[in-house]
Amino acid sequence: MNIRIEKTTNPKPLPAADDPLVFGTIFTDHMFVMNYETGKGWFDPRIVPYAPITLDPSAMVFHYGQEMFEGLKAYKTDDGRILMFRPDKNIERANNTNKRICIPQVDPDLFLEAMKELVRTDQAWIPEKPGTSLYIRPFIIATDPFLGVRPSDTYLFIIILSPVGPYYPEGLDPVKIWIEDEYVRAVKGGIGEAKTGGNYVASLASQVKAHEEGYSQVLWLDGIERKYIEEVGAMNIFFKINGTVVTPMLNGSILPGVTRNSCIALCKSWGLPVEERRISVDELVAAAEDGSLEEVWGSGTAAVISPVGHLRYEDKVMQIRDGGIGPVSQKLYDTVTGIQLGRIPGPEGWVVEV
Ligand SMILES: *Cc1c(COP(=O)(O)O)cnc(C)c1O
Repeated sequence: MNIRIEKTTNPKPLPAADDPLVFGTIFTDHMFVMNYETGKGWFDPRIVPYAPITLDPSAMVFHYGQEMFEGLKAYKTDDGRILMFRPDKNIERANNTNKRICIPQVDPDLFLEAMKELVRTDQAWIPEKPGTSLYIRPFIIATDPFLGVRPSDTYLFIIILSPVGPYYPEGLDPVKIWIEDEYVRAVKGGIGEAKTGGNYVASLASQVKAHEEGYSQVLWLDGIERKYIEEVGAMNIFFKINGTVVTPMLNGSILPGVTRNSCIALCKSWGLPVEERRISVDELVAAAEDGSLEEVWGSGTAAVISPVGHLRYEDKVMQIRDGGIGPVSQKLYDTVTGIQLGRIPGPEGWVVEV
């Protein structure tokens, strides 16, 4: 399928060089759009000027949440090339999400080409200062004008782009995390492993509560026993305990992060023992108390690596490394961002040139 391109006649001014590029606030001049109809499949892939879209108020996405999204980044290298980080993993995950929530599959080659063509069209928007990138947000929404509950017969696939600044403008700053013991985000068999809005709306009340207590994010426990650690808001979680890197195994309710997968591969390549397994909050508290909890970090596209300096569970406060950044967290951050920027050769296929 050929992607039709309709360029804007009214380009917006690019952000100023000193703009902090706060995450998710600035959008580029164009967007990719493609329609779907049952019987016809995906059709009319096009790049058009970024603009509001018109939907019927009865469009199914507004009522029952049939929608999916993805998130990844493009980077400008020192020699002016444009790289994406492991887009094949995002495309594969997108189609797994689609399958779970009855959205039709998208051809992986077309998905990749759509992202590349859009990034090329708006390449002037890729920021170049250290720590900046162009965030790519593909999403699909159900558009049938119908209030009954069933999978939609029509969809819109849209990709938008947003220049983003460094997640931590002052450098890797350890975050404070609240371990949630009241609400849960997902259960096995539910939609926790799908990247879909429903998981986020389920998390808002806890996030508000955590913010009120001075914590930046929530760490979720499993939905059945409220005992095993799952993940953080939009990040997977890692612990280094007694020299071993431990992360919750993918159990059906955890989002399979691309950054998580990359951290595991890199740690193994450095000869660090890595365990993907169940880890209980009691084990974590015990490790914090006996001093064997050496590092804690979150992994996700937005921040890449987010060191955790402080965890709270019920009335117990765990201070990790007195708030400083651990050597494995720092090495992972430097290596992943180095690969993303084309400065360090990564494993085969991790960067894709646009
Ligand atoms: C997107 C996301 C992550 C991180 O995944 P990456 O592919 O590493 O960005 C983790 N948890 C949740 C709930 C997410 O939505």
